[in-house]
Amino acid sequence: MEKREKSQRERLLEETAGVCVYCGHPLTVETMETDHIVPKSKGGTGDYLNKVCACGCCNAAKANLDIRGFLAGFSGRRRRHYENRLDTLVEQGRMSAEKRALLSDFQEEEPFPEKPFLGVRGTVLFCIQLC
Ligand SMILES: [Zn+2]
Repeated sequence: MEKREKSQRERLLEETAGVCVYCGHPLTVETMETDHIVPKSKGGTGDYLNKVCACGCCNAAKANLDIRGFLAGFSGRRRRHYENRLDTLVEQGRMSAEKRALLSDFQEEEPFPEKPFLGVRGTVLFCIQLC
């Protein structure tokens, strides 16, 4: 039996255990989108390290925002779910610590915001199941 090489999309999907990295929504190779963590418009590369599996909704909401700008729109609770999801993926050996760091970009001295606040464009941007 010939062993087929996995496509990059398949690898990205496995890296996040089959869910959108940003909201946890279950995805397939057909429904997933590839998000550039550092947007191409901000100098992000097409390297595997800069790519992550996201749902269409989160990908559209993130658009040209860098990770810090995007995460600023998360409620504290959503942010904690997100960080926990990333930690779990690293613990499971799915995601590299390097990529996890790119996806977090939080500084120790900044506490998570306690109150939800609106997305940067003043609208509710997310397709949330967690919040
Ligand atoms: Zn999502």
